[in-house]
Amino acid sequence: AKDDPRTRDHILTAMRNEVDRMTGLVRDLVSLARMDAAEDLQLQRVDLTRVVEDVYEQTKAMAPQRQVSLRRCDGAWVDVDVDRIRQVLLNLADNAIKYTPPEADINFAVQSYDSTVQVSVADTGPGIPPRDLPKIFDRFYRTEHSRTREKGGAGLGLAIAKRIVEAHKGSISAASPPSGGTVFAVRLPAAR
Ligand code: ATP
Ligand code: MG
Repeated sequence: AKDDPRTRDHILTAMRNEVDRMTGLVRDLVSLARMDAAEDLQLQRVDLTRVVEDVYEQTKAMAPQRQVSLRRCDGAWVDVDVDRIRQVLLNLADNAIKYTPPEADINFAVQSYDSTVQVSVADTGPGIPPRDLPKIFDRFYRTEHSRTREKGGAGLGLAIAKRIVEAHKGSISAASPPSGGTVFAVRLPAAR
């Protein structure tokens, strides 16, 4: 049966998917290894709202049928490695798309305080069980729910996000209120 063209197509597709998965995994591991080596950040003074706007547009493009919103604020100046911070926010957006049903909303918000700028990525999905919350930033950790859902991630996205944010002297946290949904907050020192 392995000579049957349909079987062959099937095997080829499975192999291609596996190659894609491995490619993603290797890319993520390289990314983590570089952060381990504390590779220098390419700091640039930017209004974080600009970066969040990019990610907001990209999220709408990735999930056109979703309800996605953005709350901007003025003068959210930070000194950051723009590509890395974009990578952090894109993983949060990617997670919000992957781990919530299509009818769930995704809301971005930028807020500026005295000494910090905060970006939140909130969704109205199923939330994360309280016992999983402390572990989701660990390498390779995935909740039971998503492991069984076969979404193909390696469980590295949030570990990388945490490394990147901490390299900027910032912090990242997750909360899932009993009322539902998940909110990720990234706090970065405001530029002065
Ligand atoms: P990768 O990012 O490497 O592709 P991943 O998405 O599984 O894989 P993380 O981004 O680190 O890994 O997320 C870890 C786990 O946290 C996910 O597998 C999922 O179980 C849970 N999770 C993350 N974001 C959400 C969310 N918005 N709603 C529900 N569960 C989430
Ligand atoms: Mg992820």
